[in-house]
Amino acid sequence: MQLKVLDSLPPQFLELSHDQLLEHLGGPTLIRLEGKKRNPLFISMLLHGNETTSFYAVKDFFRKTNYLKRDLILFIGNVEAAAQSLRHLDGQKDFNRIWDVSSQTGESDEEKMAKQVLDIVEAANPWASIDIHNNTGKNPLYGCVNHLEEDFLRLAGFFNRKVVYFNEPREVMSNAMAKFCPSVTLECGVSGDETVVRTVRKYIQKVLDHEKVSDLPDDSLMNHVYQTFGRIKFPRVLTIDFENEKESSNQMSLRPDIENMNFIPLNEGEPLGFVKDPSYFQVLDDQDNNITDEYFEIVDLEIRVKKTVIPSMFTKDTRVACSDSFGYLMKWVSLKN
Ligand SMILES: [Zn+2]
Repeated sequence: MQLKVLDSLPPQFLELSHDQLLEHLGGPTLIRLEGKKRNPLFISMLLHGNETTSFYAVKDFFRKTNYLKRDLILFIGNVEAAAQSLRHLDGQKDFNRIWDVSSQTGESDEEKMAKQVLDIVEAANPWASIDIHNNTGKNPLYGCVNHLEEDFLRLAGFFNRKVVYFNEPREVMSNAMAKFCPSVTLECGVSGDETVVRTVRKYIQKVLDHEKVSDLPDDSLMNHVYQTFGRIKFPRVLTIDFENEKESSNQMSLRPDIENMNFIPLNEGEPLGFVKDPSYFQVLDDQDNNITDEYFEIVDLEIRVKKTVIPSMFTKDTRVACSDSFGYLMKWVSLKN
């Protein structure tokens, strides 16, 4: 896998669909475009090949934009997975877990590519960084930051008042870009929603209208931000259904409305479903400590909330739930000192 670097949009870019990019680009591609002002806005697309809002929003941006107010650096990530509409291919590293280059051996193709991208972006002295994703579960639109600094919060709050702050996983692109400039990850709900594509396109346009990130309006600055403090891990191999049946033949039987719980505080006693063995349902904190017992209890095979938590990214996609995580737990952090 070799990083391709271009200084103009590839031919037919505006006509391509996400699954045709591999054929036209051959691999991950960085595109540098000159605008009126220096210090580029960096935009990252398709780190996960099945999260397509990023690509269609950027295409929509170019359809609606006559001239660039600022230099842009576009990164199109996992085109191989996009060709098959998958998060990543078996045998590939997850493209949003390869950016902590200081802790890596740098031997894999993905790590080498990540280092090259970061070197180019750093040398360009970026103005801001936007990495665009979708989720598998039902979630509202929200922005994620890895620092609680004002410019980061402005960039995220300008997208949506729901802002999530997280430290882990630290290997995400937004965290690497945060060393160079204000950086945000946009979480855009499930892929394929045209309205959200337009929302993201308008967001990019409006961000570019500003001279400085600190000029973004601060009335969207929220009084509180959600902080992710734990993630729910299932075994890699687990049989799951969403029938909420104690007698299920599967190892876990969660509530059918489990995705509707995202961003809603769950209080003591709230049931999530049934599990045959308590060890199948584990909550790990950022240091990988098992904190399950602090927040959940299993009573008569039923998983119940023990202490108020706010979930995000709870997903019924069992492939994601078992290979990555079933979802995250959040609490409020106050920004008022
Ligand atoms: Zn993603």
